[in-house]
Amino acid sequence: MRINSAGGISVVKTMAIIKELLSDVFEVNSKVFDSLIKLLDIPYAESGAVLEFADSVRRKFCGNGILLRGIVEFSSYCKNNCYYCGLNAGNKKIERYRMDEAEIFEAAREVYKTGIKTVVLQSGEDSGFDWDMLTHVVKKIKKEFDMQITLSCGEQEEKLYENWKRAGAGRYLLKIETSNKKLYEKLHPQMSFDGRLECLRMLKKLGFQTGSGIIIGLKDQTTEDIANDIVFFSKEDFDMIGINPFIAHCESMLKNYPDGDPYLTIKTIALTRIITKNAHLPATTALGSIKKDEDLRKNALRAGANVIMPNFTPYKYRKQYEIYPGKRCLKENADIVDYLEKMAEETGRTLDFSKGDSLKGR
Ligand code: SAM
Repeated sequence: MRINSAGGISVVKTMAIIKELLSDVFEVNSKVFDSLIKLLDIPYAESGAVLEFADSVRRKFCGNGILLRGIVEFSSYCKNNCYYCGLNAGNKKIERYRMDEAEIFEAAREVYKTGIKTVVLQSGEDSGFDWDMLTHVVKKIKKEFDMQITLSCGEQEEKLYENWKRAGAGRYLLKIETSNKKLYEKLHPQMSFDGRLECLRMLKKLGFQTGSGIIIGLKDQTTEDIANDIVFFSKEDFDMIGINPFIAHCESMLKNYPDGDPYLTIKTIALTRIITKNAHLPATTALGSIKKDEDLRKNALRAGANVIMPNFTPYKYRKQYEIYPGKRCLKENADIVDYLEKMAEETGRTLDFSKGDSLKGR
Protein backbone atom coordinates (compact mmCIF):
# COMPACT_ATOMS: atom_id res chain seq x y z
CA MET A 1 0.00 0.00 0.00
CA ARG A 2 2.68 2.52 1.15
CA ILE A 3 0.79 5.74 0.44
CA ASN A 4 2.47 8.44 2.59
CA SER A 5 4.54 5.91 4.47
CA ALA A 6 8.16 7.07 4.52
CA GLY A 7 9.76 10.07 6.20
CA GLY A 8 13.01 11.98 6.73
CA ILE A 9 14.91 12.62 3.51
CA SER A 10 17.55 15.21 2.68
CA VAL A 11 17.53 17.45 -0.39
CA VAL A 12 20.79 15.84 -1.54
CA LYS A 13 19.25 12.36 -1.38
CA THR A 14 16.10 13.61 -3.17
CA MET A 15 18.18 15.12 -5.97
CA ALA A 16 20.16 11.89 -6.28
CA ILE A 17 16.91 9.95 -6.79
CA ILE A 18 15.69 12.50 -9.36
CA LYS A 19 19.04 12.16 -11.19
CA GLU A 20 18.64 8.40 -11.19
CA LEU A 21 15.10 8.80 -12.49
CA LEU A 22 16.17 11.08 -15.33
CA SER A 23 19.07 8.91 -16.42
CA ASP A 24 16.58 6.14 -17.18
CA VAL A 25 13.66 8.10 -18.40
CA PHE A 26 14.11 7.35 -22.08
CA GLU A 27 13.92 3.70 -21.41
CA VAL A 28 11.10 3.32 -18.92
CA ASN A 29 12.12 0.34 -16.86
CA SER A 30 11.84 -1.03 -13.36
CA LYS A 31 14.50 1.38 -12.06
CA VAL A 32 12.31 4.34 -13.09
CA PHE A 33 9.41 2.73 -11.28
CA ASP A 34 11.54 2.31 -8.13
CA SER A 35 12.68 5.95 -8.23
CA LEU A 36 9.08 7.10 -8.64
CA ILE A 37 8.01 5.06 -5.63
CA LYS A 38 10.80 6.55 -3.52
CA LEU A 39 9.84 10.09 -4.55
CA LEU A 40 6.11 9.53 -4.04
CA ASP A 41 6.89 8.23 -0.56
CA ILE A 42 8.60 11.45 0.55
CA PRO A 43 6.20 13.41 2.79
CA TYR A 44 4.94 16.62 1.15
CA ALA A 45 6.66 18.83 3.73
CA GLU A 46 9.98 17.37 2.62
CA SER A 47 9.21 17.33 -1.11
CA GLY A 48 10.41 20.89 -1.79
CA ALA A 49 13.29 19.74 -3.98
CA VAL A 50 11.00 17.59 -6.16
CA LEU A 51 8.40 20.35 -6.53
CA GLU A 52 11.03 22.98 -7.35
CA PHE A 53 12.68 20.71 -9.87
CA ALA A 54 9.32 20.07 -11.54
CA ASP A 55 8.76 23.84 -11.63
CA SER A 56 12.09 24.32 -13.41
CA VAL A 57 11.19 21.59 -15.96
CA ARG A 58 7.87 23.37 -16.58
CA ARG A 59 9.70 26.69 -17.09
CA LYS A 60 12.16 25.14 -19.55
CA PHE A 61 9.66 23.15 -21.65
CA CYS A 62 6.40 25.12 -21.34
CA GLY A 63 7.42 28.68 -20.47
CA ASN A 64 5.90 30.98 -17.90
CA GLY A 65 2.34 31.26 -19.14
CA ILE A 66 -0.75 29.70 -17.62
CA LEU A 67 -2.87 28.43 -20.51
CA LEU A 68 -6.61 28.95 -20.15
CA ARG A 69 -9.39 26.63 -21.31
CA GLY A 70 -13.04 27.56 -20.69
CA ILE A 71 -15.11 24.50 -19.84
CA VAL A 72 -18.80 24.13 -20.70
CA GLU A 73 -20.58 21.10 -19.21
CA PHE A 74 -23.41 20.62 -21.67
CA SER A 75 -25.15 17.44 -20.42
CA SER A 76 -25.26 15.81 -17.00
CA TYR A 77 -26.95 12.62 -18.25
CA CYS A 78 -24.73 9.55 -18.09
CA LYS A 79 -25.32 5.88 -18.80
CA ASN A 80 -22.32 4.76 -16.73
CA ASN A 81 -22.06 3.92 -13.07
CA CYS A 82 -18.52 4.96 -12.17
CA TYR A 83 -18.19 4.31 -8.43
CA TYR A 84 -16.77 7.75 -7.64
CA CYS A 85 -18.92 10.01 -9.78
CA GLY A 86 -21.97 11.99 -8.67
CA LEU A 87 -23.40 11.81 -12.20
CA ASN A 88 -23.62 7.98 -12.03
CA ALA A 89 -26.75 6.65 -13.76
CA GLY A 90 -28.00 5.19 -10.48
CA ASN A 91 -28.18 8.61 -8.83
CA LYS A 92 -31.88 9.42 -9.03
CA LYS A 93 -31.58 12.39 -6.69
CA ILE A 94 -29.96 14.84 -9.10
CA GLU A 95 -31.89 16.88 -11.57
CA ARG A 96 -30.36 16.29 -15.02
CA TYR A 97 -30.08 18.78 -17.88
CA ARG A 98 -29.07 18.91 -21.53
CA MET A 99 -28.10 22.17 -23.18
CA ASP A 100 -29.47 22.81 -26.65
CA GLU A 101 -27.47 23.94 -29.67
CA ALA A 102 -28.04 27.66 -29.12
CA GLU A 103 -27.08 27.39 -25.44
CA ILE A 104 -23.82 25.57 -26.23
CA PHE A 105 -22.96 28.09 -28.92
CA GLU A 106 -23.70 31.04 -26.62
CA ALA A 107 -21.58 29.52 -23.85
CA ALA A 108 -18.68 29.22 -26.32
CA ARG A 109 -19.24 32.89 -27.19
CA GLU A 110 -18.96 33.78 -23.48
CA VAL A 111 -15.58 32.00 -23.36
CA TYR A 112 -14.44 33.80 -26.51
CA LYS A 113 -15.52 37.19 -25.14
CA THR A 114 -13.00 36.88 -22.29
CA GLY A 115 -10.19 36.34 -24.81
CA ILE A 116 -9.79 32.63 -23.97
CA LYS A 117 -9.27 30.67 -27.18
CA THR A 118 -10.04 27.10 -26.14
CA VAL A 119 -13.49 25.87 -25.27
CA VAL A 120 -13.82 22.43 -23.66
CA LEU A 121 -17.23 20.87 -24.28
CA GLN A 122 -17.79 18.14 -21.68
CA SER A 123 -20.67 15.83 -20.83
CA GLY A 124 -21.57 12.55 -19.25
CA GLU A 125 -21.81 9.56 -21.60
CA ASP A 126 -25.31 10.64 -22.55
CA SER A 127 -26.97 7.94 -24.65
CA GLY A 128 -29.96 10.20 -25.36
CA PHE A 129 -27.94 13.11 -26.71
CA ASP A 130 -28.17 14.21 -30.33
CA TRP A 131 -24.48 13.89 -31.13
CA ASP A 132 -24.99 15.13 -34.70
CA MET A 133 -26.17 18.37 -33.14
CA LEU A 134 -22.80 18.54 -31.34
CA THR A 135 -21.04 18.02 -34.69
CA HIS A 136 -23.06 20.92 -36.03
CA VAL A 137 -22.30 23.20 -33.12
CA VAL A 138 -18.57 22.40 -33.38
CA LYS A 139 -18.69 23.52 -37.04
CA LYS A 140 -20.53 26.68 -36.10
CA ILE A 141 -18.10 27.62 -33.32
CA LYS A 142 -15.17 27.04 -35.68
CA LYS A 143 -16.81 29.21 -38.33
CA GLU A 144 -17.68 32.10 -36.03
CA PHE A 145 -14.77 32.23 -33.57
CA ASP A 146 -11.04 31.79 -33.89
CA MET A 147 -10.99 29.07 -31.24
CA GLN A 148 -9.68 25.61 -30.53
CA ILE A 149 -12.29 23.05 -29.44
CA THR A 150 -11.69 20.22 -26.99
CA LEU A 151 -14.36 17.56 -26.61
CA SER A 152 -14.78 15.31 -23.55
CA CYS A 153 -17.84 13.13 -24.07
CA GLY A 154 -16.54 9.72 -23.09
CA GLU A 155 -16.26 6.55 -25.14
CA GLN A 156 -17.93 6.82 -28.54
CA GLU A 157 -17.89 5.07 -31.92
CA GLU A 158 -14.91 5.76 -34.18
CA LYS A 159 -17.24 7.19 -36.85
CA LEU A 160 -18.50 9.84 -34.42
CA TYR A 161 -14.98 10.77 -33.31
CA GLU A 162 -14.14 11.09 -37.01
CA ASN A 163 -17.14 13.37 -37.65
CA TRP A 164 -16.15 15.61 -34.75
CA LYS A 165 -12.57 15.79 -36.00
CA ARG A 166 -13.75 16.70 -39.50
CA ALA A 167 -16.10 19.33 -38.05
CA GLY A 168 -13.08 21.04 -36.50
CA ALA A 169 -12.60 19.72 -32.96
CA GLY A 170 -8.86 19.48 -32.43
CA ARG A 171 -8.58 17.92 -28.99
CA TYR A 172 -10.22 15.20 -26.92
CA LEU A 173 -10.02 14.42 -23.19
CA LEU A 174 -10.65 10.89 -21.95
CA LYS A 175 -9.17 10.05 -18.57
CA ILE A 176 -8.03 6.51 -18.00
CA GLU A 177 -8.72 7.21 -14.26
CA THR A 178 -6.25 4.46 -13.25
CA SER A 179 -3.89 2.42 -15.40
CA ASN A 180 -4.48 -0.64 -13.19
CA LYS A 181 -6.87 -2.73 -15.32
CA LYS A 182 -8.19 -4.70 -12.35
CA LEU A 183 -8.83 -1.59 -10.28
CA TYR A 184 -10.36 0.18 -13.30
CA GLU A 185 -12.83 -2.64 -13.84
CA LYS A 186 -13.73 -2.77 -10.13
CA LEU A 187 -14.66 0.92 -10.17
CA HIS A 188 -16.40 0.95 -13.56
CA PRO A 189 -19.05 -1.76 -13.79
CA GLN A 190 -19.91 -2.79 -17.37
CA MET A 191 -16.92 -0.88 -18.71
CA SER A 192 -13.65 -2.31 -19.94
CA PHE A 193 -10.14 -1.00 -19.47
CA ASP A 194 -9.12 -2.29 -22.89
CA GLY A 195 -12.07 -0.54 -24.50
CA ARG A 196 -11.07 2.78 -22.93
CA LEU A 197 -7.46 2.38 -23.98
CA GLU A 198 -8.60 1.52 -27.50
CA CYS A 199 -10.61 4.77 -27.62
CA LEU A 200 -7.56 6.75 -26.49
CA ARG A 201 -5.40 5.21 -29.20
CA MET A 202 -8.17 5.71 -31.80
CA LEU A 203 -8.38 9.41 -30.90
CA LYS A 204 -4.65 9.76 -31.30
CA LYS A 205 -4.72 7.96 -34.64
CA LEU A 206 -7.47 10.29 -35.86
CA GLY A 207 -5.17 13.23 -35.14
CA PHE A 208 -6.76 14.63 -32.00
CA GLN A 209 -4.45 16.21 -29.44
CA THR A 210 -5.28 13.66 -26.81
CA GLY A 211 -5.61 14.14 -23.09
CA SER A 212 -5.91 11.55 -20.38
CA GLY A 213 -5.43 11.47 -16.63
CA ILE A 214 -6.11 9.85 -13.30
CA ILE A 215 -7.82 10.32 -9.97
CA ILE A 216 -5.70 10.19 -6.82
CA GLY A 217 -7.18 8.49 -3.77
CA LEU A 218 -9.46 5.93 -5.40
CA LYS A 219 -10.45 3.07 -3.12
CA ASP A 220 -7.75 0.35 -3.16
CA GLN A 221 -5.32 2.46 -5.22
CA THR A 222 -1.70 2.02 -4.07
CA THR A 223 1.47 4.04 -4.45
CA GLU A 224 2.62 1.39 -6.94
CA ASP A 225 -0.50 2.08 -9.02
CA ILE A 226 0.33 5.80 -9.12
CA ALA A 227 3.95 5.12 -10.12
CA ASN A 228 2.63 2.86 -12.88
CA ASP A 229 0.21 5.60 -13.97
CA ILE A 230 3.15 7.99 -14.45
CA VAL A 231 5.04 5.35 -16.45
CA PHE A 232 1.84 4.82 -18.49
CA PHE A 233 1.66 8.58 -19.26
CA SER A 234 5.23 8.49 -20.46
CA LYS A 235 4.66 5.47 -22.71
CA GLU A 236 1.41 6.77 -24.23
CA ASP A 237 2.91 10.25 -24.73
CA PHE A 238 -0.35 12.15 -24.16
CA ASP A 239 -0.60 15.81 -25.13
CA MET A 240 -2.46 16.66 -21.90
CA ILE A 241 -2.74 14.92 -18.53
CA GLY A 242 -5.27 15.81 -15.82
CA ILE A 243 -4.55 14.62 -12.28
CA ASN A 244 -7.03 15.38 -9.54
CA PRO A 245 -7.92 14.17 -6.05
CA PHE A 246 -10.96 11.98 -5.47
CA ILE A 247 -13.73 13.87 -3.64
CA ALA A 248 -16.50 11.70 -2.21
CA HIS A 249 -20.05 12.26 -3.45
CA CYS A 250 -22.87 11.23 -1.09
CA GLU A 251 -24.87 9.58 -3.91
CA SER A 252 -22.04 7.40 -5.22
CA MET A 253 -20.73 3.94 -4.33
CA LEU A 254 -17.65 5.51 -2.71
CA LYS A 255 -19.73 7.84 -0.53
CA ASN A 256 -18.13 6.59 2.70
CA TYR A 257 -14.60 6.57 1.37
CA PRO A 258 -12.21 9.39 2.41
CA ASP A 259 -11.22 12.11 -0.06
CA GLY A 260 -7.90 11.73 -1.87
CA ASP A 261 -4.79 13.42 -0.51
CA PRO A 262 -4.38 16.75 -2.33
CA TYR A 263 -0.67 16.86 -1.48
CA LEU A 264 -0.06 13.43 -2.98
CA THR A 265 -1.94 14.77 -6.02
CA ILE A 266 0.46 17.74 -6.25
CA LYS A 267 3.48 15.44 -5.93
CA THR A 268 2.05 13.24 -8.70
CA ILE A 269 1.65 16.31 -10.94
CA ALA A 270 5.27 17.26 -10.19
CA LEU A 271 6.61 13.80 -11.06
CA THR A 272 4.45 13.68 -14.19
CA ARG A 273 5.97 17.00 -15.24
CA ILE A 274 9.50 15.70 -14.64
CA ILE A 275 8.83 12.55 -16.68
CA THR A 276 6.68 13.94 -19.51
CA LYS A 277 8.43 17.32 -19.79
CA ASN A 278 6.15 19.22 -22.21
CA ALA A 279 2.70 17.68 -21.71
CA HIS A 280 0.04 20.22 -20.74
CA LEU A 281 -0.86 19.65 -17.07
CA PRO A 282 -3.83 21.45 -15.53
CA ALA A 283 -4.00 22.69 -11.96
CA THR A 284 -7.32 20.90 -11.65
CA THR A 285 -10.58 22.38 -10.33
CA ALA A 286 -10.87 19.53 -7.80
CA LEU A 287 -7.55 20.62 -6.29
CA GLY A 288 -8.98 24.11 -5.97
CA SER A 289 -12.13 22.73 -4.35
CA ILE A 290 -10.90 20.15 -1.85
CA LYS A 291 -9.93 22.69 0.84
CA LYS A 292 -12.46 25.32 1.83
CA ASP A 293 -10.08 28.17 2.63
CA GLU A 294 -7.19 27.47 0.33
CA ASP A 295 -6.96 27.25 -3.45
CA LEU A 296 -4.42 24.47 -3.92
CA ARG A 297 -4.31 25.11 -7.66
CA LYS A 298 -1.59 27.61 -6.72
CA ASN A 299 0.53 24.83 -5.22
CA ALA A 300 0.05 22.79 -8.40
CA LEU A 301 1.10 25.79 -10.52
CA ARG A 302 4.29 25.95 -8.46
CA ALA A 303 4.91 22.23 -8.98
CA GLY A 304 4.74 21.82 -12.74
CA ALA A 305 1.15 22.63 -13.77
CA ASN A 306 0.64 25.06 -16.67
CA VAL A 307 -3.10 25.08 -17.41
CA ILE A 308 -6.29 26.29 -15.68
CA MET A 309 -9.82 25.46 -16.79
CA PRO A 310 -12.33 28.07 -15.59
CA ASN A 311 -15.98 27.11 -15.78
CA PHE A 312 -18.36 28.70 -18.30
CA THR A 313 -21.34 26.38 -17.88
CA PRO A 314 -24.41 28.65 -17.66
CA TYR A 315 -24.98 29.45 -14.03
CA LYS A 316 -28.44 27.86 -13.91
CA TYR A 317 -26.97 24.44 -14.80
CA ARG A 318 -23.66 24.62 -13.01
CA LYS A 319 -24.67 23.14 -9.68
CA GLN A 320 -26.44 20.29 -11.46
CA TYR A 321 -23.16 19.02 -12.93
CA GLU A 322 -22.15 17.76 -9.52
CA ILE A 323 -19.45 15.14 -10.14
CA TYR A 324 -18.27 15.84 -6.58
CA PRO A 325 -19.54 18.28 -3.91
CA GLY A 326 -18.13 21.74 -3.20
CA LYS A 327 -16.87 22.52 -6.70
CA ARG A 328 -15.02 25.82 -6.51
CA CYS A 329 -16.41 26.99 -9.82
CA LEU A 330 -19.92 27.34 -8.36
CA LYS A 331 -18.78 30.69 -7.03
CA GLU A 332 -16.97 31.72 -10.20
CA ASN A 333 -18.56 34.30 -12.43
CA ALA A 334 -17.77 36.97 -15.00
CA ASP A 335 -14.90 38.19 -12.79
CA ILE A 336 -13.09 34.85 -13.09
CA VAL A 337 -10.35 36.27 -15.31
CA ASP A 338 -9.56 38.93 -12.65
CA TYR A 339 -9.28 36.17 -10.04
CA LEU A 340 -6.96 34.16 -12.29
CA GLU A 341 -4.86 37.28 -13.04
CA LYS A 342 -4.32 37.59 -9.29
CA MET A 343 -3.44 33.91 -9.02
CA ALA A 344 -0.91 34.29 -11.85
CA GLU A 345 0.64 37.29 -10.15
CA GLU A 346 0.92 35.46 -6.83
CA THR A 347 2.68 32.54 -8.49
CA GLY A 348 5.02 34.69 -10.60
CA ARG A 349 3.30 33.77 -13.85
CA THR A 350 1.27 35.39 -16.61
CA LEU A 351 -2.05 34.34 -18.12
CA ASP A 352 -1.63 33.01 -21.64
CA PHE A 353 -4.66 33.64 -23.87
CA SER A 354 -3.29 31.79 -26.90
CA LYS A 355 -4.88 28.56 -28.13
CA GLY A 356 -2.10 26.68 -26.36
CA ASP A 357 -1.90 23.70 -28.70
CA SER A 358 0.14 20.63 -27.89
CA LEU A 359 3.87 21.12 -27.48
CA LYS A 360 4.56 17.60 -28.74
CA GLY A 361 5.29 18.82 -32.28
CA ARG A 362 3.37 16.07 -34.03
N1 SAM B 1 -17.99 11.35 -19.58
C1 SAM B 1 -16.69 11.85 -19.82
C2 SAM B 1 -15.65 10.78 -19.60
O1 SAM B 1 -16.00 9.68 -19.20
O2 SAM B 1 -14.48 11.03 -19.88
C3 SAM B 1 -16.36 13.13 -19.11
C4 SAM B 1 -17.18 13.50 -17.91
S1 SAM B 1 -16.55 12.85 -16.39
C5 SAM B 1 -17.79 13.40 -15.26
C6 SAM B 1 -15.18 13.92 -16.08
C7 SAM B 1 -14.18 13.49 -15.04
O3 SAM B 1 -14.67 13.74 -13.73
C8 SAM B 1 -13.81 12.04 -14.98
O4 SAM B 1 -12.87 11.73 -15.96
C9 SAM B 1 -13.29 11.85 -13.56
O5 SAM B 1 -11.89 11.83 -13.53
C10 SAM B 1 -13.81 13.09 -12.84
N2 SAM B 1 -14.56 12.74 -11.61
C11 SAM B 1 -15.79 12.23 -11.53
N3 SAM B 1 -16.16 12.04 -10.25
C12 SAM B 1 -15.14 12.47 -9.48
C13 SAM B 1 -14.92 12.54 -8.07
N4 SAM B 1 -15.83 12.12 -7.20
N5 SAM B 1 -13.74 13.03 -7.63
C14 SAM B 1 -12.82 13.47 -8.51
N6 SAM B 1 -12.97 13.43 -9.85
C15 SAM B 1 -14.11 12.93 -10.34
